[in-house]
Amino acid sequence: MPSTQPKKKPAVVQTKQIGKYKVEVINEKCISAASCVAIAPKVFDLDEEGIAIILSQDGEDDETKLLAAQSCPTAAIIVTDTETGEQVWPR
Ligand code: SF4
Repeated sequence: MPSTQPKKKPAVVQTKQIGKYKVEVINEKCISAASCVAIAPKVFDLDEEGIAIILSQDGEDDETKLLAAQSCPTAAIIVTDTETGEQVWPR
């Protein structure tokens, strides 16, 4: 017997994805300069010890994440293109 129930739509799970760059912080290289936080405050913050931590990969677009990494005086932030697997910064 055919069901009279309306077809249930599949749940749509939306993940916020801005860009393709992944950032990582090398803790030993971080000197707490905080320029990364100033440029990309939705991606970077400092922990209690003044070491940069990553709040979210999707807080800013690729260009902003790259600018933040390039602003780091010790090159403590590594940027990787998740599509190609290539390291974008430092070169
Ligand atoms: S800019 Fe570099 S040194 Fe400064 S807080 Fe960010 S990761 Fe650390």
